[in-house]
Order: sequence, then C-alpha cells, then structure tokens
Amino acid sequence: MKYSKLFSKTTKTVSEDEVSNNAQLLIKAGFVYKEMAGAYCYLPLGIRVLEKIKQIVREEMNKIGGEEFIMTSLQRKELWEKTDRWDDGKVDVWFKSALKNGTEVGFGWSHEEPISEMMKLYINSYRDLPVYVYQFQTKMRNELRAKSGIMRGREFVMKDMYSYSVSDEAHEEFYNKAKEAYLASFERLGLGDDTFFTFASGGAFTQFSHEFQTICDAGEDICYLHREKRIAVNEEVYNDEVLSQLGLKKEDLEQVKTAEVGNIFSFGSTKSEELDLCFTDEAGEKKPVILGSYGIGITRAMGVIVEKFHDENGIIWPENVAPFVVHIVSIAKDESDEAYKKAEELYNELNEKEIEVLWDDRIETRPGEKFADADLIGIPTRVVVSSKSLENGGYEVKKRNENDSQIVSKDELLKMVK
Ligand code: ATP
Ligand code: MG
Repeated sequence: MKYSKLFSKTTKTVSEDEVSNNAQLLIKAGFVYKEMAGAYCYLPLGIRVLEKIKQIVREEMNKIGGEEFIMTSLQRKELWEKTDRWDDGKVDVWFKSALKNGTEVGFGWSHEEPISEMMKLYINSYRDLPVYVYQFQTKMRNELRAKSGIMRGREFVMKDMYSYSVSDEAHEEFYNKAKEAYLASFERLGLGDDTFFTFASGGAFTQFSHEFQTICDAGEDICYLHREKRIAVNEEVYNDEVLSQLGLKKEDLEQVKTAEVGNIFSFGSTKSEELDLCFTDEAGEKKPVILGSYGIGITRAMGVIVEKFHDENGIIWPENVAPFVVHIVSIAKDESDEAYKKAEELYNELNEKEIEVLWDDRIETRPGEKFADADLIGIPTRVVVSSKSLENGGYEVKKRNENDSQIVSKDELLKMVK
C-alpha cells in the first residue's frame, strides 16, 4: 500500500471528549474514526490489525474443532423471554427496536439463546454431538459508560464460541481445551506474559466462570494475581473462603488493574432445559445437551495491545498483529530521484515476496513529519531510502522498539523481514 493512496491520514487533533489513550492513539494514527462515544469505525489500517487478531483466534478455534458460522444481529423477543433475559431489569444492556408491524426485536448483545434454538434443528441424537461453533460478530450493548475507547464499545466485535456436549465429562474435556486455545491465542497476540486465567463470578452451573484478565492500567477490573501459578482471582469473588478453596494465600497475591479480554463458562444443562434442547442417548433416553460459552473481545484486545505497547511517539505493534511488516520512507525531491526509484524497486520486490509493506511515497512532506508518522503508526520495521542512505551503501533500517538504526544491503534487509 502506498501512503499517498490511503484516504485516512494521521491527525494531530483528537476531540477533547476522547479520554482514552488507546482511542486517542488509534485516531491520531488513522486506524479508527470515532462516530460517537462507544462507536468506532475501522479504517483501512485498523481493519488490517483487526483481521490479524481475528485470524489468530480463528486458527486456534479451528485447531480444537470449532466450525465458523455467523448468526443474525436481529433477535426474537420470545426466545429471550423463555430464559427470562428479555427484561431490562435482568439484562441492562439491551438495544431494542420494533418491526413496522409492532413486533419487538432485540439487537444481539450475546447469542446463547438464538444459537441454542437453532441447534434444536441439528441436534437430535448423541450421534450429532459434540458441536463446537463460533462466530466473529458485532455485538450491541447499551453500556452505561463508554470511556475506555475501543476497550468498551456500545458496538464491538466479539468472537463467541458455543459447545454442545453429551455429558459433563465430555464438556469438561472440551472446556480445558478451550482454555488452552485461549491462552495460545493471547500468547500469539503478544499478551501472553500479562494474561492470567482468572476465577470470577457467573456460570449458571459451576461456582465460577473463568476470565482471561490482562494486566493493564486502563482496564476496569481489579484482580489478585499469583504470578508463579499464573492464576488470578477477580475481586468480585475474592474472599477467605474462595482463597482457601483455591489453595491460595493472601500474602502470595498481588493486586493489579486488569482488562477482561476473554470469558468462558459452563451452563451445564440449565439453558438446554429452558429451551428444550435435548438429544437421545445410546440407550434411547432423552437428555438435555450440556452447553458452554466462550467469548473473546476482539476489539477490546486491540485496545489493550495499544495500551500496553506504545510510547510518547505512538504505537509499537507486536509483530503478529502489525498492519504491515515494513514501513518504507523515501526521501526524494521528485519521482525521477534515485532514492524514489530505489524505494519503488524495494516496494515492488517486497510485494512480490508477499511481505506486507506500507510505502510513504509522499514527495511534498518533510522527512521529520514522515518519521513522526512512522512512529505514530507503529509498524515494526522502518526502512529509510534517501540519497544519504544510498551513499552509505543501502537502506537505513530501524526497529520501532529500538533507538539505533543501521545501514544494510537489500539482501540483508530481505533476510531481516522474512
Ligand atoms: P465486562 O465485564 O467487561 O462488561 P462482560 O463480562 O459483560 O464484560 P462477556 O459477556 O463475557 O463480557 O463478553 C465476552 C468478552 O467480550 C469479554 O471478555 C470482553 O473481552 C468483551 N467485551 C464485553 N463487553 C465489551 C464491550 N462493551 N466492548 C468491547 N468488548 C467487550
Ligand atoms: Mg465477563
């Protein structure tokens, strides 16, 4: 991609009502546009990051047998009434509307009810089980406060997976696989070191639900960490009884601010019983299906990454989720300049090799401004092509997270970015 062709540009001004660090940086660098509080548009650079995050999560879900599908955002009232979750007193984040004929509908804030209803068509016998399905979808939640940028949207992308199993044992086995797949996902997203498997409230069937909490000052949760055991306890369930149950001692725990990037829980047979989702087992007996639900906040994870990986000059994307691998900055008087031609040659060669590259090909813009933009955008490797670099024997390479640059030949450069 050529910078001159990108419609979204970097900007120095962000409206004063944007108080979060992640959204300020993402807006300035041209990744997102703020429509209103809690509602952000993803621009070409932003989409690239979002898609990388989704692809990592997708691969991990596929590895444990997940099948991707997509449900609708419009939801039927009757379904949620069956499980007593339509009432605004029970679920306080509903966005609701009505069809022209007056029929009330809801905008999906979650999908357990409609998916389980759908599964009644496909699950009849033990032979139809297990089923593991997941989707990436825009969820709508009428959140009271939306001050954390893309970490708390009123409209946000979630990966939600649902498991349907024949027994508690079969469920348990998959639940543990899902836990490992979650940890693997966060590791690949660059959040591995600071993300902890966390005991939290909720879970219709078990005492706890399990969250994946990432240490983050901009997070809205408080957790108590046991670093060696790599587990945490959410303050909502933090008490003497729970600690002794988990074999943890107060003095070994560290209080930290965290952001919930994922949440998994077991419904047991409760939801299936409410919705009458049953199967016949090998003995011909009718039984409720055992249900689990597993969420990852895709856009929230992107916000957390920005919160954790930036400096005063801009974002520092981890390699796996960076919008591009290489950011070429050419410094040339015009297009006939040697530096421009060499930059173009390098750009074409990287594209041929399918190495993702952004080329700041602007002629009029001052070098200082281009370097500032490169720092703001945060692509891992910056390559300057100028008459000076060429005189010195090649291309000036600087890693975003390092201070020093070095001059390398094209072959060396290609080795570095492979
Ligand atoms: P929170 O406690 O932060 O409100 P939640 O417990 O309601 O989240 P879940 O229903 O478990 O969230 O949703 C699964 C995941 O979706 C969460 O772990 C989180 O990462 C993400 N998520 C939830 N609400 C939002 C939101 N408003 N904006 C962005 N991501 C969200
Ligand atoms: Mg939660």
